[in-house]
Amino acid sequence: MALYANVIIDISHEKLDKAFQYKVPPGLQGCLAVGMQVEAPFGNGNRRNTGYVVELTDEPEYDTDRLKEITGVVEGSIPIESQLIALAGWMRENYGSTMNQALKTVLPVKRKANAKKQRIVRLALRRKEAQEWLALFQRKHNTARERLLSGLMEQSPLPYEAVTGKLHVTAAVIRALEEMGILTVEEKRAYRSPLGKMEQGKDRVELNEGQREAAARVFEDFSCGQQRTYLLRGVTGSGKTAVYIEIIEKLVGMGRQAIVLIPEIALTYQTVVRFFKRFGERVSILNSKMSQGERYDQFERAKNGELDVMIGPRSALFTPFANLGIIIIDEEHETSYKSETAPRYHARETAIERARMAGASVLLGSATPSVESYYHARNGDYVLLELSKRIEEKPLPKCYTVDLREELRQGNRSILSEKLQGLMEQRLNKHQQAMLFINRRGLAGFVSCRACGHVVKCPHCDVSLSQHTGGRLVCHYCGHTQGAPQTCPECGSKYIGGFKAGTQKIEEIVKKRFPDARTLRMDFDSTRSKDGYEKILSAFANQEADILIGTQMIVKGHDFPNVTLVGVLAADLSLHVSDFHGAERTFQLVTQAAGRAGRGDMPGEVVIQTYSPQHYAIAFAGRQDYEGFYEEEIAYRSLAHYPPCGHMLALMVASADEMTAILCIELLAKIVRQAQEKGKLAGLQTIGPTEAAVAKVKDIYRRVLYFKHQEYRSLVQMKDVLEQFISGHREFQSVTVQFDFDPVNGF
Ligand code: ADP
Ligand code: ZN
Ligand code: ZN
Repeated sequence: MALYANVIIDISHEKLDKAFQYKVPPGLQGCLAVGMQVEAPFGNGNRRNTGYVVELTDEPEYDTDRLKEITGVVEGSIPIESQLIALAGWMRENYGSTMNQALKTVLPVKRKANAKKQRIVRLALRRKEAQEWLALFQRKHNTARERLLSGLMEQSPLPYEAVTGKLHVTAAVIRALEEMGILTVEEKRAYRSPLGKMEQGKDRVELNEGQREAAARVFEDFSCGQQRTYLLRGVTGSGKTAVYIEIIEKLVGMGRQAIVLIPEIALTYQTVVRFFKRFGERVSILNSKMSQGERYDQFERAKNGELDVMIGPRSALFTPFANLGIIIIDEEHETSYKSETAPRYHARETAIERARMAGASVLLGSATPSVESYYHARNGDYVLLELSKRIEEKPLPKCYTVDLREELRQGNRSILSEKLQGLMEQRLNKHQQAMLFINRRGLAGFVSCRACGHVVKCPHCDVSLSQHTGGRLVCHYCGHTQGAPQTCPECGSKYIGGFKAGTQKIEEIVKKRFPDARTLRMDFDSTRSKDGYEKILSAFANQEADILIGTQMIVKGHDFPNVTLVGVLAADLSLHVSDFHGAERTFQLVTQAAGRAGRGDMPGEVVIQTYSPQHYAIAFAGRQDYEGFYEEEIAYRSLAHYPPCGHMLALMVASADEMTAILCIELLAKIVRQAQEKGKLAGLQTIGPTEAAVAKVKDIYRRVLYFKHQEYRSLVQMKDVLEQFISGHREFQSVTVQFDFDPVNGF
């Protein structure tokens, strides 16, 4: 029963910082909740204002005598803001952040400077009165006023620009007539549509039986008032997108709206066109290249009922639809669905909570579901739907696994195995296309000493520097650059150099081996420009190149019917990432990469090159055996109590002063230890404290502490205890503390 409520009066969003504290009158104690719209006195005259409760607390921040009391709760329809504010409250609670950080995540920020407004001038008088005024202006020879008024009597409203332009009337004259009550100046927002002109037209595919069943299940449940979470597992090219569109169309027909989350990298023109063809102007998109103003406009359009479907990455989840019917998360296994800033929320769990509040369904789709989601589907928490065949029953590609150690023993020191070279040669002869996939940019781009093993690191970030063209060394965290050393700074040896197996290097190797082949490269550098990504994709789709070489990026949702060969160059690099997701990531990447081959009429082949062919992630990926992989992986997670078989909380303290960071993290560890000694937090396991995987970023030191517990709730309780401790202790004023529940990307 909270005694005080923090209320934001105006969610014009720039003022989110400004919550006002009120007393909760006895009659309302116990029934107020975050997100509720309340009435409260405001300002010197105690004007009655409405506002939203953003936080409830028992501790007053001000002198309680000076706090005013909330007058009442606004009854009636709950505006969409209430729901989003309540969602922010849930996120704050379950992921750990300030309420303000959470609010800024769910409410779009309005930037006045960017708002593109259209102003119109409207006559505010009846004809007779207007005529009288006109006569007066004529008598007085107020020619400008006369021009303006007679213009408006001819046509009203007029665009503001037409009045100042064509009628040559100054702003001062317009203002004068406005003050006299003759006209009104109104502002109409001119919304920018990010889609511009797209070709419209119906693009209706006849769903096959599997697709029909999946769509019907979701829709029929919905119609009976059952809103659940569904996991649609379907190999790449099995027609999941067509199922999404079908379901959305049905729900839109019932007056509901849909949010479709797609990883930004897969949000291609091709995908958007498919939705646009079905929903026309009623669909919009969000992406990170849009300005704040453009994003804000799309949210406004959604709120005003001008849209039925919003497509976008993680943040599209907060589209203010008033009658949300479904949230679809495509490629639900993607790590980009986890936020990397506080609140570090997961879009999947947050979508489920938002859907619960809105009475909506959630549909997760993937060819390689996350271990978490499949676990929930097995448990019956989610409903499992499957599309087991590719459209038109195209066969899955044939996979060959090549042991790179063996290759070396045979004397082949190239990054391209004999098998891969042979198959590439065949494709070039047959004028078919190939894709070469390298597992993450710059990973092998570090510079090390072959005599002593010293690796050149960034002086600010504690990560290895990558060698770029021209030999310069670059830090991918902070951008620090320096020249390549001639001799080893540790031992003085001159055998120091880069082993760059990045995309550039591979392109060079391919060109040397196949001088006539046309290559394209897709990586972080070549896609930096605004539409670099789309350009490369369409060039490859138009068969302007024979071989596409790229990172993770080429694995995502694009159909290249002429690609019949995929080479995964070093499948195991992602096995060695420093957290428990290594096997899952590797399995997903290799399976998804393999899925790119043979999507057209010709069957595909895949070569997986690896140093650990016996590892289960690689072996099952080679057989495209999801179930097999899952069984092995879940056994391991269960044994080690890793999510989803138990939960984890990572806690990071960051400070410019290394000693302060160490001191603070030790202090928090001590608090937990003391609580445990008192018999609290039973079943909690603590790991650390230690340096974060990236121990220093931009000269800020980062220390971490990990906790494991069977129950998520218990970790939330512990977070609450720590938060309270932190807010009451001075030592923490100069440090940043972040919580990360069930970490995905790590600190
Ligand atoms: P996924 O999202 O599972 O990778 P898509 O929905 O993109 O699969 O479908 C792959 C291709 O098959 C697309 O080109 C799509 O237009 C086509 N397609 C989907 N469903 C059907 C169908 N029922 N009949 C014919 N073609 C289909
Ligand atoms: Zn050395
Ligand atoms: Zn750096």
